[in-house]
Amino acid sequence: MNLKSMTLPEITAALKALGQPAFRGKQVYTWLHKGVRSYEEMTNLPKSLRDSLTQQYPLYAPVAVRKQESQRDGTIKYLWQLQDGNCVETVLMRYHYGNTVCISTEVGCPMGCAFCASTLGGLVRKLEPFEMLDQVLFTQLDSGLPVNHIVLMGIGEPLDNFDNVMRFLELVNSEDGMNISMRHISLSTCGLVPKIDELAKRKLQISLAISLHGPNDGVRDRIMPVNKAYPMDELLAACRRYYEATSRRIHFEYAMIDGVNDTPEAARELLRRMKGLPAHFNLIPLNHVEESPLKPSSKAAVATFQKILEDGGITATVRRTLGGDIDASCGQLRRKHQKNQA
Ligand code: SAH
Repeated sequence: MNLKSMTLPEITAALKALGQPAFRGKQVYTWLHKGVRSYEEMTNLPKSLRDSLTQQYPLYAPVAVRKQESQRDGTIKYLWQLQDGNCVETVLMRYHYGNTVCISTEVGCPMGCAFCASTLGGLVRKLEPFEMLDQVLFTQLDSGLPVNHIVLMGIGEPLDNFDNVMRFLELVNSEDGMNISMRHISLSTCGLVPKIDELAKRKLQISLAISLHGPNDGVRDRIMPVNKAYPMDELLAACRRYYEATSRRIHFEYAMIDGVNDTPEAARELLRRMKGLPAHFNLIPLNHVEESPLKPSSKAAVATFQKILEDGGITATVRRTLGGDIDASCGQLRRKHQKNQA
């Protein structure tokens, strides 16, 4: 395993195997979580140890091959090149309550949602824990802006990369690392029911977001292939179990697509089906993806939809779209980069 993917006890054990005393573990762990690019920067380690670590555990750091900053809202988008040449996107958004980093969990995505640019080339591979951590570390270092919140809403399906994502959460939350509170982390899934149950068992204090995007199986089947494996009833049942296990209110993402899922009838159907499940809805006007015929809903349709939900007792916010001038929505920058290179 990559040294940067290891927990503090694991690093301590790895260093012990190299004949090192226990305190070295914490020294190395702390350096790694500061985002050093080489062992040479670990100035409180003996030269001989730096050399043997370089040999045994080569250290990688991603390279920013593109960086775009929005002139409108200060959103910064990075395209990071990983050690094997693959690229992933990370977005830094500035809100009044602090800076949020949106990270990718996979290179590409296997889920096939009809409106999403991330999935157009399918899944290439899952990210290692340290590759998720690096996105946070190096975005913070490069931008000079402290990261307070993390959302797992970039390229990929986090629950399809379950073990690595759980390990990443443990690392980024650790006291000797970035120490980012679980309550400041959101994980979004398109609805992998067995994994939602597995996540519930961990009883983490993170926020769970569900990409719902439809009021029924008819609509979801059309735009989200995952619904064929885990239909909406099963998904909502899993959400109820999740709420019972964690007492955490669930966030539902709902991309508003013209003529597909944005009618008043759809809003009323949602209200009926969500009964008894504490929920918050994020209504997101669809970001148009070049390859797709789907179009965003009108402002009026979004407002009507929001009002029906709110009148029915479900809080719903219309997500402000950030970084519209820099291809900041999922997978668009990586996609463009791939096309330019082809
Ligand atoms: N695979 C996870 C994580 C991705 S999160 C998931 O599906 O939840 C990214 C969010 O943006 C998801 O809610 C996704 O459905 C949504 N999304 C993807 N493409 C979009 C687009 N073109 N416009 C608006 N939202 C989009």
